Amino acid sequence: MQYFEAKWLASAAHQDQWPEHDLPEIVFVGRSNAGKSSLINALVNRNRLAYTGKTPGKTRLLNFFVVNNQFVFTDAPGYGYAVGSRHSLIEFGILMEPYFAKRENLKAVVLVLDARRKPSEEDISMVEYAKTNHLAILAVCTKKDKLSYGQLKNQQFAIAKELKLNANSFLAVDSLKKQGMDEVWDKINETLSLK
Ligand code: GDP
Repeated sequence: MQYFEAKWLASAAHQDQWPEHDLPEIVFVGRSNAGKSSLINALVNRNRLAYTGKTPGKTRLLNFFVVNNQFVFTDAPGYGYAVGSRHSLIEFGILMEPYFAKRENLKAVVLVLDARRKPSEEDISMVEYAKTNHLAILAVCTKKDKLSYGQLKNQQFAIAKELKLNANSFLAVDSLKKQGMDEVWDKINETLSLK
């Protein structure tokens, strides 16, 4: 399936800047460098859509994109950049907590994880936020091309265990070669019952 129509809708630092619309929203979260931008771009078949979040001044915002007039993707800031920086963690919480708790359009969370790494504290918090707010969680392990099939399965199992998620809710992708995108779309559609 190919989704060509993807356009920037808004960037928000505060609740009063969240855009108004009637579409289901899916938020993408993940540690910096996990491959979140590459995944979003591969899903919508665009090269630089999700780089808005990396331009100076927009790194700490929620960036909203309309996809095919059917969904809104919300790109959250990548976390874990300044390791141990209490201030940046608090800032991140101030941005994310109200969004998870109060955003009525929000239906699902895509947690983007580097297939080679252990989940971080923030990854664990994201799962907790999602569970607390009864949101569907889809975990996507990126960079599957960096691991053998056996290594990938072991990693997915270990990550699922650490995050206390069902290993079946994990998908693996190679965003650079755009492998695994149909499966992610199928899962998104299934989750939102749009099929
Ligand atoms: P973000 O900080 O989470 O948005 O991460 P990026 O999407 O910018 O990706 C970080 C780095 O990982 C970049 O150099 C990407 O080219 C690379 N990358 C992302 N996804 C993949 C993947 O599936 N396979 C490989 N080999 N590299 C990837």
